[in-house]
Amino acid sequence: MKKRHLDGYKKFRKEYFKDNKKLFNDLTLGQNPHSMIITCSDSRVAPVKILSGVPGEFFIARNIGNIVPPYDRTKGATQSAIEYAVNLLKVESIIILGHSECGACKHLYHKKTEDEEHIELTHVDEWLTFAYPAKHNAILECIHNPEKNRAEITEKNNIQLSIQRLMTYPYVVEALENRTLEIHGWWYNIGTGDLESYDYSDRIFKKILVE
Ligand SMILES: [Zn+2]
Repeated sequence: MKKRHLDGYKKFRKEYFKDNKKLFNDLTLGQNPHSMIITCSDSRVAPVKILSGVPGEFFIARNIGNIVPPYDRTKGATQSAIEYAVNLLKVESIIILGHSECGACKHLYHKKTEDEEHIELTHVDEWLTFAYPAKHNAILECIHNPEKNRAEITEKNNIQLSIQRLMTYPYVVEALENRTLEIHGWWYNIGTGDLESYDYSDRIFKKILVE
């Protein structure tokens, strides 16, 4: 174990675990998370921290680019997590949490240079084909509005795309119609800590105001 890992673990044992023994004991009985979060693997996005959560609150699926694959692609970690969260854990909310400076969204536009020829990114490239519609719509939008931030538009389109893809899951639609489930799309700004939420009526992302 690296020293940085050991130091972190020691601190956890001595402080957080010690101070929350009852919580950890209760958690041995089972989990009852109220929300599922589907977010990017990016290390800068820390959903539990952003929402000041505790263990047991959030069922989290992470992948490159917070992508929800279509329902008909059966073999997949993200699909399994959604199925488990909705049908078994019966979460009240699914949150698609995208973010600024997303490397996955940036990669959609990247063309391999000669120096990069030896770097294998076969799975990344294949996985990101799911996000092509987000890129294509951003290109169209920016052709007519060159002043717009294409990276941010792609990230936000990609969140909306994941929401649309959730609607290809029959049990998600059923839970929505029964009003036992809500779906939210959030965009997190790494530099400012702001969260923007997709507004279904106005079809734009709006900053979540606090204070
Ligand atoms: Zn990302």
